[in-house]
Amino acid sequence: MEQINYIYDQLKSPQAIAITMHQKPDPDAMGSSLALFHYLKKLGHQVTVISPTNWADFLKWMPGCNEVIDFESNKVVAEKILSNIDFLFCLDYNNFSRTRYMEQLLINLSCKKILIDHHREPHTESFDYGISDYTKSSTAEMIFDFIMESGGEQYLDKDIAVSLYAGVMADTGSFRFSSTTSNVHLMVAKLKTFNIDHPKIHTAVYDNFLENRLRFIGHVLSNRMEVLYEYNVAIIAIPKADIIKFHIKTGDTEGLVNYPLSIQGIEMAALLIDRDEERKWSFRSKETFDCNSFARKYFQGGGHYNASGGRSTFSIEDNIKQFKQALKEFTSKQ
Ligand code: 5GP
Ligand code: MN
Repeated sequence: MEQINYIYDQLKSPQAIAITMHQKPDPDAMGSSLALFHYLKKLGHQVTVISPTNWADFLKWMPGCNEVIDFESNKVVAEKILSNIDFLFCLDYNNFSRTRYMEQLLINLSCKKILIDHHREPHTESFDYGISDYTKSSTAEMIFDFIMESGGEQYLDKDIAVSLYAGVMADTGSFRFSSTTSNVHLMVAKLKTFNIDHPKIHTAVYDNFLENRLRFIGHVLSNRMEVLYEYNVAIIAIPKADIIKFHIKTGDTEGLVNYPLSIQGIEMAALLIDRDEERKWSFRSKETFDCNSFARKYFQGGGHYNASGGRSTFSIEDNIKQFKQALKEFTSKQ
């Protein structure tokens, strides 16, 4: 993979561009993609944003979100667009397996592929140009840097600012995590000059659920959480029946994994959800538990040091057993 600055000159003439993100996009994936979308359009390019799957309702307020193509429900349209592009931007993921059913299609494209991402262990062989930096708070911060470094400061506007703000807000836990550097605050200071209403963005993302979701959280914290004090770990495992009973949809389980971390002494929290086609894991830690390595080693996943995800095709019960076994092995080696 070549350095990203090699493409700056290539973007001086109009190009056909697609921007992609990981499946089930979060505010950082969607916000960074939409910010780049608005920026590249202003430069005169023909740009389309494609998500591998659908996304949560709490992202739908973002400017340009209604133009994003959901690959799963618009495969033919998406394939046609992808077959004619010069550049493919890959945001907030570093391995095509994170794009689910788009994986083979993206691997086979002959256009130039550009990575902008902050997860660990990037699959750099898959990309022509790019930047991968796990010290960055968010892909949103990296898009801001991309705009500034490629000489595009004068194109920043309110749509770009709110999209980037949502991304960095979510990935820093509202400016709480250690990834919140002085550069992050300097960026936010700049974004604020576009008159963005930041309390409104917080409300749109975090205070925008229905009653059923809060009752669901109450239920799972009471009945589905197990605290393993010997490891300072807590696990929440959610069976399919709960998802159906409480009418849980995409985005409703976002943030749930963090609740057990508020228990004194708990260092790592795990969430296991029974989805149709697989069991989905989320891992979060406070400090020294390496969630990326844990997810990678035992659950075909990865991510960041303090936040990662994984998957398995085995049953919920088998996953819990495997998790406890893995924990025993992993913590004995640390
Ligand atoms: P979440 O628990 O919110 O799904 O994901 C936490 C972090 O880990 C996110 O940054 C996400 O991109 C990453 N992640 C989640 N699932 C996977 C996975 O299956 N593989 C990899 N490599 N990363 C994942
Ligand atoms: Mn991110």
